[in-house]
Amino acid sequence: MAVPRIETEMKIDVNGREYWLDHPLLVVVCMDGCADEYIDAAMSAGRAPNLTRFGAEGWRSMARACLPSFTNVNNCAIVTGTPPAQTGMVGNYILDPKTGNEVMTNSSQWLRNGTILAAAAKAGRKVAMVTAKDKLREMLSKDCDGIALSSEKAPEWIEKRVGAKPEIYSGDASLYVLEAGTELARSGDADFLYLSLTDYIQHSYAPDEPEAIDFVAGIDTWLGELDRLGARIVATADHGMNHKCDPSGGPQVRFLESELVAKFGDGIRVLCPITDPYVVHHGALGSAVVVHLPDPGLTEPIAQFLRTLPGITEVHDRDSAVRQLELPNDLCGDLTVLSGRDWVIGRRPEYHDLAQLHGELRSHGGRYEEMVPFFCNFRFEFVCNGASA
Ligand SMILES: [Zn+2]
Repeated sequence: MAVPRIETEMKIDVNGREYWLDHPLLVVVCMDGCADEYIDAAMSAGRAPNLTRFGAEGWRSMARACLPSFTNVNNCAIVTGTPPAQTGMVGNYILDPKTGNEVMTNSSQWLRNGTILAAAAKAGRKVAMVTAKDKLREMLSKDCDGIALSSEKAPEWIEKRVGAKPEIYSGDASLYVLEAGTELARSGDADFLYLSLTDYIQHSYAPDEPEAIDFVAGIDTWLGELDRLGARIVATADHGMNHKCDPSGGPQVRFLESELVAKFGDGIRVLCPITDPYVVHHGALGSAVVVHLPDPGLTEPIAQFLRTLPGITEVHDRDSAVRQLELPNDLCGDLTVLSGRDWVIGRRPEYHDLAQLHGELRSHGGRYEEMVPFFCNFRFEFVCNGASA
């Protein structure tokens, strides 16, 4: 079906940047945790013909996501067009500087600036935001007058149109997002869409396993449907994914709070920003943690000690985290610590229920999951500033 042409060009201003909404159907897909290896494996197997075509006729490259490379951090960065210094979103789990309590950030109250989605809706676009996990739905739909739904808690009206909601720990939870988005675009209920998937499959399977290839093939099919509707599409990811195990297949982990307290004394807290209500994927083990110290005098000795530990690749004090990682000064703790490609960092063993993991640990959060695939089905610039080629 032809998409109606929008006659008036719309320009919106969001967080100091201009966006031209000059295309009648704009779709951004965040393929959660979809390291380029997953796309590449499916393309090599001939199972991703649409992405392959986008790469040839449009654009394929890598983009730099924000650090720490976690879901909330980068979904917020994508929908606002700004780094964590401005979004205030530094992880799924933080120490609230106002109360000193450890809290989940699964709420729009933690998002400090406005979204492109809200601005587009205000400018008259029919915005739809569809996520897999319900935690993201509320956060990203902040102040947005449009459709916002998740496949996890799909409302009855969308179930009537695209079928019953899937299990959240499944590839179908993501494919349902794409199917719902395609239905909203096809029916004309939405013309400006943000579709955010979940990374259960990438956490559970290596890129060349059949389950992973089938999953990317499923994503590819829906991208093809959106392309046929005439959508201008960008498909990217919030972070990559790596196998975090030693050669025997066991998780390669440093329990940093245990190590630091043993050496430097009580009162040191290590927060794992990957912690969220959905722990089956990763046991709350990722490749970035935030260290809070009882005494600022400990910062330098602890930083020096951390740099000597195998698996630890970067140690940033507050100044360095603000300058190099673009983190907000009040939320980055005393030290931000990243681990290497094959390593994760935990808190203490009792905080991590590894028995819940399905298969070997695959996770993210560090520098090695920072670069993500970036596909456009059009030639060039980016989605809201696209040249009308
Ligand atoms: Zn993610």
